[in-house]
Amino acid sequence: MSNPSLLILPGDGIGPEVMAEVRKIIDWYGAKRGLVFDVSEDLVGGAAYDAHGTPLHDDTMAKAQAVDAVLLGAVGGPKYDVLDFSVKPERGLLRLRKEMDLFSNLRPAQCFDALADFSSLKKDVVAGLDIMIVRELTSGVYFGEPRGIFKEGNERVGINTQRYTESEIARVARSAFDLAMKRGKKLCSMEKANVMESGILWRDVVTEVSREYPEVELSHMYADAGAMQLTRWPKQFDVIVTDNLFGDLLSDLAAMLTGSLGMLPSASLGAPMENGRPKALYEPVHGSAPDIAGQGKANPIACILSFAMALRYSFDQGPEAARLESAVEKVLADGVRTADLMGPDGGVPVSTTEMGDAILAALDASL
Ligand code: NAD
Repeated sequence: MSNPSLLILPGDGIGPEVMAEVRKIIDWYGAKRGLVFDVSEDLVGGAAYDAHGTPLHDDTMAKAQAVDAVLLGAVGGPKYDVLDFSVKPERGLLRLRKEMDLFSNLRPAQCFDALADFSSLKKDVVAGLDIMIVRELTSGVYFGEPRGIFKEGNERVGINTQRYTESEIARVARSAFDLAMKRGKKLCSMEKANVMESGILWRDVVTEVSREYPEVELSHMYADAGAMQLTRWPKQFDVIVTDNLFGDLLSDLAAMLTGSLGMLPSASLGAPMENGRPKALYEPVHGSAPDIAGQGKANPIACILSFAMALRYSFDQGPEAARLESAVEKVLADGVRTADLMGPDGGVPVSTTEMGDAILAALDASL
């Protein structure tokens, strides 16, 4: 059987810096765990624009469609602000998401004990937190028609349309139930069925799909109440599934319960391919951080944890993903910190490379 394949798109700004640390970890898995990946690398975002005049070359798009998983660093930067909208770096990322039809966006909110003090909430509310928000990514109010700004009598009216088909709801619900089966077997679906017809349909379809997953305990919550509950006692949740708009807000809210942007991974999954693996793009939540790019200050953990998600969700290597997450946890518990994780007490931050090396040493120690 051939090795699993991975396309790496480092992108712009700190993207290549954090990705270099992930490359070391990928090599470690090959050398020490016999888990060898066929890795190819290509350009995306501003880097692709500089080379080809487009933020994603067709050849790169074709490679992304052919591999088992894509791992992306970050795109964008002030240099590209003047470009036409159609060739801005972000368009490369949007094209990947659209053409790979990545409808299920996984945003974990996990609080490492060593960083519990970083949350704006009380330590006991967030310590040990481990929840997953599944956001529908390709439909809903950001895409529904009609949309636009129209003239109505003497004034303008802005219109966006919340629209969901049963099949769109069912496929993201299944992806959330599948996840719940691999985790704590609890799923909470959030919508606004009290005031939106699309919410009523959402609740109906999720309930129908739940019959395929009798082991998963399903609950429903209005999204506004969900926001309150997430800040009051987030540990009551395991997996949350919600639409594109509510998911946009709730996933950011949940993520920031846990501290720094430099720590947050994500996955976007599509339909299963012939080999049974879902189409998949893994990326840190953060952007290209031009303010610290090229200074060796970036925290590589968000990108490293994105690779851990790839191990778990694309390559069925749950125990190896857990090994990598434990290595990150150990390094943090030992007090190793990049600048973004320094508390008010100060201390000496490590560089991007030193953080990567510390995680490699923790991986070695795990053998
Ligand atoms: P950003 O996430 O790049 O940075 C926000 C702040 O967080 C900055 O102060 C930055 O230094 C810090 N930060 C981010 N990641 C960090 C890390 N790994 N380690 C340490 N500190 C980190 O967001 P922004 O400044 O709003 O955007 C900068 C550029 O990135 C823009 O061009 C924007 O369009 C783009 N962007 C890209 C993505 C993506 O590629 N998915 C996401 C968001 C923003």
